[in-house]
Amino acid sequence: MGILDVEIVKLYIRMCQDGWEQGWHERNGGNLTYRMKAEEVDACRPFFRTPGEWVQMGVTGENLAGEYFLTTGSGKYFRNVQPDPTHSIGIVEINDKGDAWRIVWGLENGARPTSEFPSHFMNHSVRVAATDGACRVIYHAHPANLIAMTYVLPLTARDFTRALWKSATECPVVFPGGVGVVPWMVPGGADIALATSELMKQYDAAVWAHHGLFCSGPDFDTTFGLMHTIEKAAQIWILAQSAGQGKILQTIRDDELRAIATEFGVQLNEDFLD
Ligand SMILES: [Zn+2]
Repeated sequence: MGILDVEIVKLYIRMCQDGWEQGWHERNGGNLTYRMKAEEVDACRPFFRTPGEWVQMGVTGENLAGEYFLTTGSGKYFRNVQPDPTHSIGIVEINDKGDAWRIVWGLENGARPTSEFPSHFMNHSVRVAATDGACRVIYHAHPANLIAMTYVLPLTARDFTRALWKSATECPVVFPGGVGVVPWMVPGGADIALATSELMKQYDAAVWAHHGLFCSGPDFDTTFGLMHTIEKAAQIWILAQSAGQGKILQTIRDDELRAIATEFGVQLNEDFLD
């Protein structure tokens, strides 16, 4: 029995492999963080090493003080997570002020958490508050069809939400609140972290223009499923636009979106309906 036999670590590695197999993680693209439950930390603790130094994050999340996160490593490849987890992923502990991390497992040979860790951390902080503690997963990937949409649609939450809702009947049920859109920004910095976390107060997914998608959720299935559903809808949108050379003969009407919501008992964001 080792830490790689602990169920939550196995599920985390499986999600990384699933994202790689979808083609969303070229080279070192994308990152995944998971806020561990107390019993999951306890199951992993026997395998922790002497902790490293505290490293300041430049952002603060007081509601995440003392939490533990599974995280992908900076510059590490999703392709390598399953064959080489100890160098590709790790567990970090957050200090009692909620402004620094230290490595307690993995990320061997001097690796560090993803360069987007401050972004993930701020989004965790916002989503934990927005979901009464239910949110545990933040996932960033580079799905090609959604990125392609950011070149041809206005960069607004309304335009993207409507296009995606109308591209596949399941969409209004899977993300009834819609998706937010962040304009193009330099990745890895505090600015994009702040802009994304502002949107994540309202949405559980945010598009990064010409870059990718941020998703959040309570578990791996829901969060991976959200990424997968949005990208599948984007693929259908791109296919329909391409096949019709920009001309759409028919689509799901707004009253039909409302009918789906009624049938499935979800509340659609009315701002996005005509
Ligand atoms: Zn990225």
